[in-house]
Amino acid sequence: MVVGRFAPSPSGRIHLGNILCSLLAWLSVRQKDGRVVLRIEDLDTARCPRKYADQMEDDLRWLGLDWDEGPTVGGDNGSYYQSERTALYQQALEKLEAMGLVYPCFCTRAELHAASAPHREDGQVVYAGTCRSLTAAEAAERALKRSPALRLRVPDEEVSFTDGHMGLYRENLARDCGDFLLRRSDGMFAYQLAVVVDDAAMGVTEVVRGADLLDSTPRQQLLYRLLDLPAPEFIHFPLLLSHDGRRLSKRNADAGLDVLRDRCTPEEVLGKLAYLAGFNPSAEPKNAVQLLADFDWDRVPKEDIRIPEGLF
Ligand code: GLU
Repeated sequence: MVVGRFAPSPSGRIHLGNILCSLLAWLSVRQKDGRVVLRIEDLDTARCPRKYADQMEDDLRWLGLDWDEGPTVGGDNGSYYQSERTALYQQALEKLEAMGLVYPCFCTRAELHAASAPHREDGQVVYAGTCRSLTAAEAAERALKRSPALRLRVPDEEVSFTDGHMGLYRENLARDCGDFLLRRSDGMFAYQLAVVVDDAAMGVTEVVRGADLLDSTPRQQLLYRLLDLPAPEFIHFPLLLSHDGRRLSKRNADAGLDVLRDRCTPEEVLGKLAYLAGFNPSAEPKNAVQLLADFDWDRVPKEDIRIPEGLF
């Protein structure tokens, strides 16, 4: 049985990119008669209040996308809010600690940026390993002044995987990423750890998400291996850009569902998105079930997709 998921972070109203993600995840799984899980990725509780999560569920229902397990429908794998699953992340962290792979990092944000480490394409810093070799005594002394973040020691080896849409992807974690965060200094668990623990615990076999997370996948593959958990298939799709080539964000009012819900029917939103993503022959309105017939990953482009001005 194929199990897919919607894993939105409710830090605002969903936009067209989030909708395309949910639509593709839904179609890909439903076409194989699989199950869909809704998980609310609200680790950052300050930025993700429950009212946004509730609004998100309402928006997904309005679009006609349904799911079999989730916050209000229930299921055997709850809680479906990441903010209520921290005990599981703690267990995974302890497993990695017992393997000797976790160390405390006292670097401030300013220190991280000042270190002469290269920057990744997404602007993140490749961690220079500043705290990697602190002795236990040095770490204990620093911990008196500042609570540390926790990092995973990554091996200097290439991790590769075949993405279901983008093909072969490889990365040397030591060179391209560095030791990455498992828990922030304020105690918040990192997305990379939480998403792996949850997808495995919820029996997810297929992860559909935007290509902006492609370069997170090698970190997640490493965690699956270290925690001895089965990795799902990953399918990344190209990003949706505004007509002038900007990345969509939740602050981008023109692409938010708050505006679209007043202006369009759900079938219009889905039909136009499916047209842009290559599997609706024209921009005519269609509901999710009608789109199942023409959906095919081979039709979805691999390059970023611009939304023509005035389409929505
Ligand atoms: N919560 C993430 C987001 O909304 C998605 C994480 C994932 O699909 O792995 O961007």
